[in-house]
Amino acid sequence: MKTLSYEFVEYIPDQMEEGKLYVSIPNCVAIHKCCCGCHTEVVTPLSPDAWRLIFDGESISLYPSIGNWQFACKSHYWIKNNTVEWAKSWEDTMAEKNRSKKSNKKMFSKFLKHFSKRKK
Ligand SMILES: [Zn+2]
Repeated sequence: MKTLSYEFVEYIPDQMEEGKLYVSIPNCVAIHKCCCGCHTEVVTPLSPDAWRLIFDGESISLYPSIGNWQFACKSHYWIKNNTVEWAKSWEDTMAEKNRSKKSNKKMFSKFLKHFSKRKK
């Protein structure tokens, strides 16, 4: 299993080490090099709408998962307790995304039906 170390910094260094997650609390951002080894810098802003950082005093987790769709490697993984947990495959993830979209639609049409019934 691949593990990550971490470092709390004020500013992100120019030369980033691979396998290290840099966390800048003043800037509300975490940065690491893509865990697939492609050296792409992955920037994860920390905010309620973006990523949450969980630090338990010994290890770090990031939620939600890291999905590097915009990079050539298209890697997708979670960082949980300093370890990298790979998503099954990109196709699986897309299928999951589509499924949740569909169920959202279903929910919405159910809601509409319910609402129009009540109107009558
Ligand atoms: Zn990569």
